[in-house]
Amino acid sequence: MKPSETSPRPGTATRPTLTRRRPLHTLAASGVAVVGGGALAASHDPIPADAAVPYAGGGPDESEETLSGLNPTRALHELLSGNKRYVAAHMLHPRQGVPRRAQVAPSQKPLAAILSCADSRVPPEIVFDQGLGDLFVIRVAGNTADDVALGSLEYAVDHLGVRLVMVLGHERCGAVQATHDLLTKGEQLPGHIAALVVPIVPAVQAAQTMRGDVVDNAVTANVRMVTAHVRTTAPILSAHVQKGALKVVGARYDLESGAVTLIA
Ligand SMILES: [Zn+2]
Repeated sequence: MKPSETSPRPGTATRPTLTRRRPLHTLAASGVAVVGGGALAASHDPIPADAAVPYAGGGPDESEETLSGLNPTRALHELLSGNKRYVAAHMLHPRQGVPRRAQVAPSQKPLAAILSCADSRVPPEIVFDQGLGDLFVIRVAGNTADDVALGSLEYAVDHLGVRLVMVLGHERCGAVQATHDLLTKGEQLPGHIAALVVPIVPAVQAAQTMRGDVVDNAVTANVRMVTAHVRTTAPILSAHVQKGALKVVGARYDLESGAVTLIA
């Protein structure tokens, strides 16, 4: 870590306005290899959101940076850009150092809320290449939205100013598979696992009428159903959506490629 990155710039630690990571030319000037700069240079977006910078360890703290307050479209762009970096193995590992920890210690203003599966292979901060204080994450096997999850999302939107909610499913989801096995084989699930699959039953039933792999189709159906449920849940979430202050999207994660694809 460079000395200049060990502490926040005076007067910037709590600045609510958006500042962005260093431009590519400054990265190049600092000796960091920049890959794919030509494609970025052709972009109309002056922000190097897809900056392909090989990780050399001890990633940039960028403690002066905050992404809170982005409109929903820009917030989604930020997430998907981070995922592109992750897929290409060009992660920035932003906002993960001690200065960032100090910056967000008093309060949080996350960029987005993610309702994702608890699966250990789908950690949102990693697959979206984000840092401390960036993502408000609710994780439950099967990425379903019970009242506690909805309450958590409402808190993120109403109290923390989050303007983007993403429901994130993934291929080969064990919770969806278990639901399928329950319905098709009558397999009894022990303990509280039975309660876990109940909200996934409608998605699996819908997938049973589709062509193709039932479980894989059910993963997509489940994301779409949960996304629609979150989007229309009154009084807080639906109201924010209707006035254009909140975007709720559904996506699924590919375990092999690491890519996140919007599906709802
Ligand atoms: Zn899962």
